[in-house]
Amino acid sequence: MTPLLKVSEAEVSYGPIMAVHKASLTVDKGSIVTIIGANGAGKTSLLNATAGLVTASGHFEFDGQNVDVLDVEDRLEMGLCIVPERGELFGSMSVEDNLQLGFYTHRRDRAGLRARLAEVFDYFPRLAERRLQLATTLSGGERQMLALGRALMSRPRLLLLDEPSLGLAPLIVSEIFRIITALKQSGVGILLVEQNARAALECADYGYLMETGEITLHAAASALLDDPRLARAYLGGS
Ligand code: ATP
Repeated sequence: MTPLLKVSEAEVSYGPIMAVHKASLTVDKGSIVTIIGANGAGKTSLLNATAGLVTASGHFEFDGQNVDVLDVEDRLEMGLCIVPERGELFGSMSVEDNLQLGFYTHRRDRAGLRARLAEVFDYFPRLAERRLQLATTLSGGERQMLALGRALMSRPRLLLLDEPSLGLAPLIVSEIFRIITALKQSGVGILLVEQNARAALECADYGYLMETGEITLHAAASALLDDPRLARAYLGGS
């Protein structure tokens, strides 16, 4: 089976700093893959390179098609969509207007827009209740839901999620992970960058550990949860 995403030997540099060094990974359709690692390990850089947000060398294939030369909008139109850390919403616009912006690739399809809005409100009833509220007045958890909801408006086939649980209270974190699992069940592939390694591995199928720019370990998520090399540094175990 062709993987949904295949990254081969990706490298990202910022001037003299090599943030990602020969990183390779795959994500299958309808699966959750997580990248875990310490602060500064290169996780965000690898995610941004996959989305086309930063320049990288190496090869990026989406559903069997080479996307190396495509920019972020072209990758989005193919169904490869990133939700950056802290969402980047339009604070002075309402929840509903922010969601509509996510539908821009199909701008003229009004019936499609209404149907998609209804689907996103099904995932996030909290957003439906707050559809006219300005994004700037939302709580941190609601803002994260809106960022995720806006990405879903584009009907992604692969979602790149950067720290969706960052700074959120435990109840909201479990709500976000519940939604990520529901998205997988609907067939969306998910590449998830998380500091919260235990929660990420508990919902993922497969995991990669990044250390100082390199992928140093990868295995089924259940195996990584039991791996003594991860226990102390990343899982809070002894
Ligand atoms: P965190 O978990 O803290 O978000 P990360 O694993 O996502 O970290 P990156 O944000 O990819 O790591 O950063 C990897 C390295 O690249 C770090 O040393 C960082 O300082 C550096 N870096 C990231 N972005 C830039 C930039 N725009 N310019 C220069 N250096 C950068």
